[in-house]
Amino acid sequence: MSRVEQDIRDKFRRSGYTLTSQRRAVLDALRDSDGHPSAEEIYLAVKKKNPRVALGTVYQALSVLEEIGVIDTKHWSDSPTRYDLNTEPHCDIRCVRCGRVDEIPDVDLGDLHSRLQPNTPYEITEAALVVEGICPACRT
Ligand SMILES: [Zn+2]
Repeated sequence: MSRVEQDIRDKFRRSGYTLTSQRRAVLDALRDSDGHPSAEEIYLAVKKKNPRVALGTVYQALSVLEEIGVIDTKHWSDSPTRYDLNTEPHCDIRCVRCGRVDEIPDVDLGDLHSRLQPNTPYEITEAALVVEGICPACRT
């Protein structure tokens, strides 16, 4: 069993949720997708194998997976929420023209949260960086 798989099972065990076949199907679709699919794209992928699945079921599965920390959400302007199996702090950039998403390597985001916290009386619960640009293919 891979480390990622073990990690997913551990998170389910600790949460008290069950890794149902529907949640499993959503995870598989995320793993097999190219990067950071929207709920709609995940739904279409799951539907290929499970024609009777409902969009609401996919949303519910995504919500549970996010709650227990198996997946992360990404929010870019002009785009639906996107989902990411990589829950380690990392920086993604999205092309504003074609929607392609790539990771920007070697950026230390691990302490973004702790660097912001001293400057605000809010208790920070989420600190994310939104990066957008124009990809090499769209620049030519
Ligand atoms: Zn592009």
